[in-house]
Amino acid sequence: MKQYKNNIDLKSLIRKNIRELVPYSSAREEYNGTDAIFLDANENPFNTPLNRYPDPLHQNLRKKLAGILGTRTEQIFLGNGSDEAIDLLIRAFCEPGIDNIISIDPSYGMYEVCANINAVEIRKVLLAEDFQLNTEALLNIADENSKLMILCSPNNPTANLLNKKDVLYLIDNFNGLLIIDEAYIDFSGSDGFLSYISDNQNLVVLRTLSKAWGLAGIRLGIVIANEEIINILNKIKYPYNVNMLTQKIAMEHICDPEKKNNWVKIILKQKKILINELNKFEFVKKIYPSDANFLLVKVDDPRIIYDFLVSRKIIIRDRSGLSLCEGCLRFTVGTEDENQALLDALKEIDED
Ligand SMILES: *Cc1c(COP(=O)(O)O)cnc(C)c1O
Repeated sequence: MKQYKNNIDLKSLIRKNIRELVPYSSAREEYNGTDAIFLDANENPFNTPLNRYPDPLHQNLRKKLAGILGTRTEQIFLGNGSDEAIDLLIRAFCEPGIDNIISIDPSYGMYEVCANINAVEIRKVLLAEDFQLNTEALLNIADENSKLMILCSPNNPTANLLNKKDVLYLIDNFNGLLIIDEAYIDFSGSDGFLSYISDNQNLVVLRTLSKAWGLAGIRLGIVIANEEIINILNKIKYPYNVNMLTQKIAMEHICDPEKKNNWVKIILKQKKILINELNKFEFVKKIYPSDANFLLVKVDDPRIIYDFLVSRKIIIRDRSGLSLCEGCLRFTVGTEDENQALLDALKEIDED
């Protein structure tokens, strides 16, 4: 039996009804060759290949991703975007009205929305002024019903990587699943926490094809975790949650990581230029350090700038209503031309 540092009993974290659930058994799970005559799923025999249900366990894609991420296939779950993964984790582990989730503030809004949809309390702990974790406050606010802690690194909207030693400390000391959302990790120069999965049964890493891979439109989210957690997620997902077109296009793209790496390089170069140019504006008070493909920028009048840019058909995000983000706008780094158009529009404001 493997000894983990954080010796929690995973089984006891799972909701009772989920632990005891008999999952739907789809016709396509029982035989996984491709060379048979399929008369098992009431499909139309014409219109090949779209007439067939997709592989419910996404075996080929998971195997390929495992190779790229340096994990085992059994440690990978695929969902309809990270959003599905977040929702399933909550539904598997949090009893509505009883259990709770620990998270950070400010962070990605979907954690709270998903918690609210599931009638699960979310307890948020303010980040420090430098946007790093207050680890003791995060542990202190937890109780025996705290099943999940959700962190995000690089964090959206603050753009920074979380300190590694803080996250490791929480993995060791939180008595539940520690989920870390690494949607922006490819832009950060950090490897993130994938290599800690094998030694930490309570660690869950979220990745996505929506950002660096340029595939937000196909909806593919990736969960990397202990096999036991992956099995639970596979047990409760919709049987055909990742459609055939998504599986096919994802496979084509992940076979070409050089294209992704090249995009990341271009975007990071553009980010540098954008930081340089934005700093020249009078109304820019501060550009926060960014480990992602976006910039959090404190300005004098966020709403005026936002509205003006909309009138120029340039859409950014006004984040000024979030904790610690007073006066802040969030700019995604675009192409050279897009960034230039943004800067040209901002020059008009500066001249007024
Ligand atoms: C964009 C983003 C995602 C991606 O979500 P998908 O559902 O996979 O598109 C996940 N987490 C964070 C923090 C994000 O900003």
